[in-house]
Parts: sequence; C-alpha cells; structure tokens
Amino acid sequence: MKIIMLGAPGAGKGTQAKMIAAKYGVPHISTGDIFRANIKNGTELGAKAKEYMDKGLLVPDELVVDLVIDRFKEPDCQNGYVLDGFPRTIPQAEALDKALSAIGESIDYAINVEVPDENIVRRMSGRRACVGCGATYHIVYNPTKVEGKCDTCGADLILRDDDKPETVLNRLKVYHEQTQPLINYYEKKGVMKEVDGTVDMNDVFAAITKILGE
Ligand code: ADP
Ligand code: ADP
Ligand code: ZN
Repeated sequence: MKIIMLGAPGAGKGTQAKMIAAKYGVPHISTGDIFRANIKNGTELGAKAKEYMDKGLLVPDELVVDLVIDRFKEPDCQNGYVLDGFPRTIPQAEALDKALSAIGESIDYAINVEVPDENIVRRMSGRRACVGCGATYHIVYNPTKVEGKCDTCGADLILRDDDKPETVLNRLKVYHEQTQPLINYYEKKGVMKEVDGTVDMNDVFAAITKILGE
C-alpha cells in the first residue's frame, strides 16, 4: 500500500501518517523528520536544508528527491509506505512517478487532509515536538500527561522554530503556490481522496480507514 499525505502545514498529516503506519504495518516516511534529524546530527544536508526551513521555504527539489527514492530501497518498504511531506511540488511528484513506473509500480492513494487556513496558525502555535523521539503533541488537542515532557520517552518538548506565527504564514503561502496544485495532479490520476481534517483526530482516522479498508 503506497500512500501520499497531502494538506497544509499543520493539517494533521504526520498525526494521521503515524496512525496509518501502525495499523497497516507500513513505514512512515517524513521528509521533514529526515531533515530535522540531519540538522540535529550536523550533516551537510542538514545545514543546507535549515537555510530554507527557517524561512518557511521549501528545500530545493534536488536535495529531496534522491533522498526519498533511496529510502524506498530499505527492506521495510517492501509492502509500501506512507509518505508525509513528500511530494510537495509538481517536479517532485513527477520524479516520484518516474521512479515508480520504472519498476512497474504506482501510488495507490493520495489523501488530502483538509483544514482551512484560519485554523492553521492556532494548530501550529500549539504544536509541541519531542527533542528525543520526534513525537508530536498539541497543548490543547493532544496534551502530554506531564506538561512539557514526552509521554513516550520523557524528553523535553519544544515549539519548532518554523512553527512561530510569522513563519507559518510564509509556509501557508508556499503551500498554496507550490503544493496545492498536487491535488489536481493526483485527481487526474484517479487516486485522490479527501478527508475533513477539522474534526477530532480519531474521527479523521476513521474516515481514512474507511478509504483504505479495515
Ligand atoms: P509540516 O509538518 O508542518 O507539514 P514538515 O515537517 O513536513 O512540515 O516540513 C518542514 C519543512 O521541511 C518544510 O517547511 C520545508 O522547508 C522542508 N521540507 C519537508 N519536506 C519537503 C519537501 N518534500 N520538499 C521541500 N521541502 C521540504
Ligand atoms: P502536519 O504533519 O500536517 O504538519 P501534525 O500532524 O504535526 O500536522 O499536526 C499539527 C498539530 O495539530 C499538532 O500539534 C497535532 O497534535 C495537532 N492535530 C493533529 N490533528 C488534529 C486534529 N484532528 N484536531 C486538532 N489538533 C490536531
Ligand atoms: Zn519523545
């Protein structure tokens, strides 16, 4: 099962992708997580990516595409994967198609998690990320048991630099210009599915399992 998660920053792609990965036994591949891990480890790729991420801009396609396509070669991708945050531009989607069709494969579902812009800034300013394991919480909608500490690993939670309101507005603009056109792209391929992302996260997931099957 090969799935792409689409939606604005903060729509809940990561939250849903993790639930899909757990239920259907496919790996969750987040390009944002891969870049943040590279930044944390001080790699050259991380340094390059950070320049763009801090401004709310997309990292150039050529730094993203090979990284994801190489990831598919790992043994855990045998039965598919759920892609979160990739593709984000038409050229990325075309590169993905090309790589898949070369091995006789294609994307099964593109799931668009719909959340209007008005809700996004509130979502993002309340998002907290674990510095230890990368788990994501929300101070109102998905709080931890102990304030400021990860439920899973106990490490500290932070507000991501790029989740500050001024950067979020930039990311939304970039989303509408560069990523939203992918909805039409996957509609034409007949794999596009929409879910309402404004309801409780468990209800969003119920809508997704209805699409993917129990
Ligand atoms: P969100 O969870 O808010 O959608 P991500 O964690 O997916 O954000 O991405 C954070 C940042 O990493 C993006 O704003 C962008 O700078 C960069 N990034 C992640 N994935 C891609 C991609 N496929 N193409 C270009 N830039 C990306
Ligand atoms: P994305 O990966 O699309 O950027 P996340 O999954 O990180 O989005 O979710 C953004 C923030 O909103 C997080 O703090 C998350 O806990 C919270 N969130 C996710 N889904 C919902 C929902 N259905 N209702 C309310 N808050 C949500
Ligand atoms: Zn943690």
